[in-house]
Amino acid sequence: MKMIDFRSDTLTKPTEEMRRLMYEAEVGDDVYGEDPTVRRLEERAAEMLGHEDALFVTSGTQGNQVALLTHCRVGEEIILEADAHIFLYEGAGPAALGGIQLHTVAGTAGVLSVDDVRKAVRDENDIHQPRTRLICVENTHNKAGGRVIPVEKLRELYLLARERSIQVHMDGARLFNAVVASGTSAQEYGEYVDSAQICLSKGLSAPIGSVLTGSKEFITEARRWRKRLGGGMRQAGVIAAPGLYALEHMVDRLEDDHHNAKKLAQYLGSIPGLQVNVDAVETNILMCDITASGLSNDAFQEKLTEAGVRASNFGEGIIRFVTHRHITAEDVEETYSRLSGVLKGLTVIK
Ligand SMILES: *Cc1c(COP(=O)(O)O)cnc(C)c1O
Repeated sequence: MKMIDFRSDTLTKPTEEMRRLMYEAEVGDDVYGEDPTVRRLEERAAEMLGHEDALFVTSGTQGNQVALLTHCRVGEEIILEADAHIFLYEGAGPAALGGIQLHTVAGTAGVLSVDDVRKAVRDENDIHQPRTRLICVENTHNKAGGRVIPVEKLRELYLLARERSIQVHMDGARLFNAVVASGTSAQEYGEYVDSAQICLSKGLSAPIGSVLTGSKEFITEARRWRKRLGGGMRQAGVIAAPGLYALEHMVDRLEDDHHNAKKLAQYLGSIPGLQVNVDAVETNILMCDITASGLSNDAFQEKLTEAGVRASNFGEGIIRFVTHRHITAEDVEETYSRLSGVLKGLTVIK
């Protein structure tokens, strides 16, 4: 039985073409600024976001942490959504590395409301309060189920930030999923943030790496932080080459992943005991609520194993399914048929 693995789009392996480009990549010592392939990737990413410059980093987490450390000083504060990746899944990096405080604000479908953020911004004239230095947004929002930030919402936040001399960072690990789903270009999104982190290694299928974009001055300082964190890489062209290919050739196909996620949502939602908000599935992530099945997450995972399907625990009663390049339309059909089988006869809790 073929294992159908929905745990993450990070499972995607490099294509044949990517492997060829890795082999042929022209390289140099990137810490000396002499790797032409890394430079090309950085220039292309900057251009796509409409930013002045960019920095190739080892991972999305490193890109976000370098960004926060570059924007903020010790004792300053960042406003971000309560379920943000930076808050939940980056090892308390801002506290551990930068003495930076996080101020969470609950959003709707992963999107912060400008009124809530306005209330959360500290009074800069009150010496008791931390200084609000940065607002972070996540596009698409992972924990909210791959939700897209509408560009108008981002613009409102950006205008507020400008008014209060606050910077905006976008955790765009899946920015290109947002681009494909919304029709808003990366450049339009880029216009309303000061920095952005984009992952090459998720749905775009590159083996490694992220790019951080921003102003020339910001990237110069970010380069120092990357080095300090041990992220200065030498002949990194071998991993930048597939990353560049990912930006040029792997964006449009994300549409297939979105289509498959939507279809899977419809199928799963039709199985008694499972609930999926099909309308909330905008990109390649779907959150399946298993509460009514009466099964614990562990018991549900056992059913999945029996069916040769893998997905992730995302908190009590929630299982996350992510579609990606190695999940075909047939795999979605097959998943439905296998899961209907192993979940048959459940007593559904009303
Ligand atoms: C995956 C992810 C990251 C981190 O990327 P890594 O390359 O795994 O470190 C950051 N933010 C979001 C929203 C993500 O989904």
